[in-house]
Amino acid sequence: MPKPVVAIVGRPNVGKSTIFNRIAGDRISIVEDTPGVTRDRIYANSEWLGQQFSLIDTGGIDIDDAPFIKQITEQAEIAIDEADVIVYLVSAKEGVTDADEHVAQILYRSDKPVVLAVNKVDNPELRSEIYDFYSLGFGDPYPISGAHGLGLGDLLDAVIKNFPESGEDDEPGTIRFSLIGRPNVGKSSIVNALLGEDRVIVSDVAGTTRDAIDTKFTDKEGNRFVMVDTAGIRKKGKVYENTERYSVMRALKAIDNSDVALFVINGEEGIREQDKRVAGYAHEAGKAIVIVVNKWDLVKKDNHTMQEFEQYIRDQFVYLSYAPIVFVSAKTSQRLEQLPALIQKVNMNHSRRIQSSVLNDVIMDAIAMNPTPSDNGKRLRVYYATQVAIQPPTFVVFVNDPDMMHFSYERFLENQIRNAFDFTGTPIHMIERRRK
Ligand code: GDP
Ligand code: GDP
Repeated sequence: MPKPVVAIVGRPNVGKSTIFNRIAGDRISIVEDTPGVTRDRIYANSEWLGQQFSLIDTGGIDIDDAPFIKQITEQAEIAIDEADVIVYLVSAKEGVTDADEHVAQILYRSDKPVVLAVNKVDNPELRSEIYDFYSLGFGDPYPISGAHGLGLGDLLDAVIKNFPESGEDDEPGTIRFSLIGRPNVGKSSIVNALLGEDRVIVSDVAGTTRDAIDTKFTDKEGNRFVMVDTAGIRKKGKVYENTERYSVMRALKAIDNSDVALFVINGEEGIREQDKRVAGYAHEAGKAIVIVVNKWDLVKKDNHTMQEFEQYIRDQFVYLSYAPIVFVSAKTSQRLEQLPALIQKVNMNHSRRIQSSVLNDVIMDAIAMNPTPSDNGKRLRVYYATQVAIQPPTFVVFVNDPDMMHFSYERFLENQIRNAFDFTGTPIHMIERRRK
């Protein structure tokens, strides 16, 4: 089931990003060492008292060139649309400002729960400053200090108390997938083409299919799918939907709530920076991935075009070498019928379990073929490997000295595992553990 979403809103400088970083800790999305991916502080996963949730800093989603009031209005609306609970942040230092009141006006109009937090209460003397904020009409304000990490526990207690009851679980065997990619690559067109086919039965749960956030459907073989964030893909025509950071945030959220990500690229335009960011996140999050090159009808082709485009993608996304590539056209429906089976396949590989004895045969053969590295007369010894998790498949390798497992040797072992078993479409995680 999707995690609850908490959004932080408030005028600039009240401390939103400070609080965001405090709550997210080191769980901030997007790790720097994936090429082309920068650390982005708008979306993160976090946990309080065992309850997982996603966190959005709406202050990080700016609308290009919009005036101040427009910015904070849009940010408050994003919070209302996206969040299950809103943390409305104000500052004890400046007291209640006009901009705070403006934000409050927008939040009144929503029925989402709002928890009011007064930041910059750095010491007990400042606690008396919080009484002014009752006038905002959101009940008891929670005094906090992002700078000193004070009061956050009480604030988070109040936040998780307001989480909605979790909904029903998916039926067993259901595959959750999302379509990610820049605006205009053709995600909605693919969705419409997939759902429009007679082979597909769409079960419309909440409201009309068009508005449903997630869409359930069954293909002709009876396989059940949930398409995550269908509504986000289909656009509602709001101003902020055209901003890059909003669409990135939305994609990160959709990836988190899926097993498989269809990473859609515009075959006519090629790859852009923004493509790399969401793909890097899906990879880091350990999701199964299919690369979908759309608008293939618009590409002038000869006998080599597909091969050349494939090489271009492999060069741009070296870390996605496991992801299958499919060339489609939402317009002509070319090869779209392959998508359900591909999703099914990579999902199966994502959950594949390898018996330890079979795995160790592969590892020992690999070592016999290409001896482990040595350093100063000391050699890396690999004793044993075992699979400890699926989604993604995760292997622990017991060795004499984990520091001696170089990246290149780990990559070699991974490749040998991939040669022996079908892990197409899924990342593999390898962890080295010391054993004497
Ligand atoms: P945002 O614009 O709402 O995201 O605000 P920032 O997180 O960027 O913070 C704005 C300024 O307030 C920065 O200079 C922070 O260092 C400062 N700040 C944030 N939290 C606190 C706090 O708890 N106490 C004090 N004194 N300053 C803070
Ligand atoms: P999204 O923003 O990623 O959801 O992209 P849309 O599905 O809205 O598509 C953007 C534009 O590209 C629209 O004008 C579509 O009609 C067009 N488009 C989408 N897929 C294809 C395709 O396969 N071929 C062609 N020629 N146009 C396409």
